[in-house]
Amino acid sequence: MKDEPGRPFRSRVAIQRCEDYEPERVEEAVRTAVALCLEGRSLDLGEGSVLVKPNVLAPRPPEDGVCTHPAVVSAVLAVLREAGATELVVGDSSGGTGVRPDVTDRSLEASGIAEAAASAGARVVAFDREEPVLVPNPRGPGEAPLALSRVAVEAGCLVSLPKLKTHTLTLLTGAVKNLFGTVPGGAKREYHRRNPSVESFSNLLLDIVELLKPVLHVVDAVEAMQGSGPSAGSVRRVGLIVAGTDPVAVDAVLAAVMGVGPAEVPTTRLGAARGLGEADLDRIEVVGVPLSEARVPGFRLPPGARLISHLPPGLTRWAVSLATTRPAFIAGRCTGCGQCVKNCPVDALSLTGGVPELSSEKCIGCFCCHELCPSQAVSIRYRHPLTNLLLRPDRGAPFRSTGAGRRRRRT
Ligand code: SF4
Ligand code: SF4
Repeated sequence: MKDEPGRPFRSRVAIQRCEDYEPERVEEAVRTAVALCLEGRSLDLGEGSVLVKPNVLAPRPPEDGVCTHPAVVSAVLAVLREAGATELVVGDSSGGTGVRPDVTDRSLEASGIAEAAASAGARVVAFDREEPVLVPNPRGPGEAPLALSRVAVEAGCLVSLPKLKTHTLTLLTGAVKNLFGTVPGGAKREYHRRNPSVESFSNLLLDIVELLKPVLHVVDAVEAMQGSGPSAGSVRRVGLIVAGTDPVAVDAVLAAVMGVGPAEVPTTRLGAARGLGEADLDRIEVVGVPLSEARVPGFRLPPGARLISHLPPGLTRWAVSLATTRPAFIAGRCTGCGQCVKNCPVDALSLTGGVPELSSEKCIGCFCCHELCPSQAVSIRYRHPLTNLLLRPDRGAPFRSTGAGRRRRRT
């Protein structure tokens, strides 16, 4: 990557090696990455509290690779204290809180983040405890206002700590997607319902970024999640801490680390088009570890995620259906708990004989069921049997129930 005359770098992203979660090693990597991306500038902490927003998706322990590791949270809190932050708050809203109101509290405990925050003297907040505040949409009065956490809206500044993971809907969970957790409780489900296409959902995420304007993003990419992210994939050692102030540029770099073109990630492509950051790798100054050395060979992506994003416009419905994916439910893993049914934003699932049954016509492919299943019993299949046969998208032995509640295995 060269700084060509007339094409100056527009954004700066720092990459540091960090091979494991040993606390001193993490703190050194975070401290160096933050200093490098700020180029000697100090952070504008604003007035009042500094909100640190990790990824606290679900009640899962650090070794599962679902939530931001507590060692990264501790390191960032230490760096912020040194930068002059006096009132530190750590908060999030987990997935599925509209159905189980205590899930964020349980996630903060299980992930080790509550303990890390308390040790650093930070207040821990589950955003779902308060009613959201309605704020005007940054795209103008023609767009619906946003329902966001009061803590997030009223903070003096926001520091985001994403976990590098694949995402079945948006391909990547990074700087932009991490902010969806500032939508408290059941409003998340409603936003999925109102934004059934990946473009409209991505624009919603970008609305949140534009409104909350995080001052810094520090990504936990020490252990990432590949494959069926953001909760049912496998942990992949990447060994990096990535930091930057431009969320689109940070995500462009994360995409490149995963072996994906930034324009393939809808939030990155649309974020650049909306002027919210830089997605062109030739205009992003990568400092620290060179990007060529940070790329991870063979990083597995969600089944079908790339196929649908490469479709040319104007195809017939049948052709599109070949590339469309849908959830399927894995026999032997499903406990019949019904969480997927309750969290589906468009009521495309019902529990018949203790087994989820999918209405493929209603399904919008948001994959909330896949993301929130506590037993990782939701698999991803192509909607069309021909594509399933040719591409074999996922492992496991999925079934779907018939109307009579019988289980029929699919191959
Ligand atoms: S698929 Fe998962 S969430 Fe749905 S009923 Fe089965 S175990 Fe529960
Ligand atoms: S069935 Fe799953 S993927 Fe389909 S709309 Fe419901 S939650 Fe989303």
